[in-house]
Amino acid sequence: MDDPILLIRINPLKESLLFDCGNINHIAKRIFKSISTVFITHAHMDHFIGIDTLIRNILVSPKTIKIFGPPEIAQKIEAKLLGYHWNLVEDYYCNLEIYEVSESSCKVFMLRGSQEFKSIEKKTLAIKNNIIYENQFLTVKAVLCDHKIPVLAFNVTEKPHFEIDRQKLESLNIETGSWLNELKQWFYHKDNIDFTLSQKVPDPITSVALYEQIKKDSSGVSLTYITDIGFNDNNLEQMKKLSKRVNILICECSFLNQDKYKARNSFHLCTSDVNHLIGELKPNIVIPIHLSRTYKKISYQLYDEITPSDEYEVIRLPLRKTLLPLNFESGRLL
Ligand SMILES: [Zn+2]
Repeated sequence: MDDPILLIRINPLKESLLFDCGNINHIAKRIFKSISTVFITHAHMDHFIGIDTLIRNILVSPKTIKIFGPPEIAQKIEAKLLGYHWNLVEDYYCNLEIYEVSESSCKVFMLRGSQEFKSIEKKTLAIKNNIIYENQFLTVKAVLCDHKIPVLAFNVTEKPHFEIDRQKLESLNIETGSWLNELKQWFYHKDNIDFTLSQKVPDPITSVALYEQIKKDSSGVSLTYITDIGFNDNNLEQMKKLSKRVNILICECSFLNQDKYKARNSFHLCTSDVNHLIGELKPNIVIPIHLSRTYKKISYQLYDEITPSDEYEVIRLPLRKTLLPLNFESGRLL
């Protein structure tokens, strides 16, 4: 029933990615400090009101955070921040690098804290294969969908990680040793492209050739985050374009099937739409989110309408994570 958000922690980088930014008052300060990149689906209040809270928490950090969103998101953030006085700004205040994502290109804007967050357009980047962001551990893709306004849907896919198949090593008669560390360094940093391993490998062999022979065949987790889209053919095609493989589907499920007309009127999804999406995307795990507040006391009915299957598991989120108002305990006013 809370505003939808998703936080992905990248442990080795000590960084977090935040997807959507509605009411985020319940996030701890140390988590705010770890947020390096924010992805906004669209600028309806329940996905966007927390931008002020985010900036309040990182304002005096001398860092630049990236914010990805649909077209016009830069001017909407600038307009929000125009509502404050900035006469006491310091040179070290944070900066916002904003990426307005369209179908095949991305406009980049810089809003500097030291310059009162006034937006300056920097450049336009081409988008290939829907990839809008990547680091050494994961890739984020986005597609534009229709919610009566442009809305972004996101897919996060883990990059393959370094993993050796011991059986393959044994069958090649290669002993383990410090060269494995050397190979791991090469895998993650690739600063020494295709170097020749120096130790304990029977014949001279390059890192690329050796790793191909001994790597464990595994692919990273693929997670798709969808919220606030109309159920129509174009949006379905966009969902399928996001990723061929989805392990975790985090999906808006605003309405019961009996209220389908409400979903159609507001370009949201109802339970039968979610069942259809599950059938198309074939995830292993489904996490329904963004249940309409009108079902506050009967949210179980929404979950009951998600078709059970041995193919996937449905995870139920707690009804709310944000703090209850003061003087409010166990659902009854004191
Ligand atoms: Zn919306």
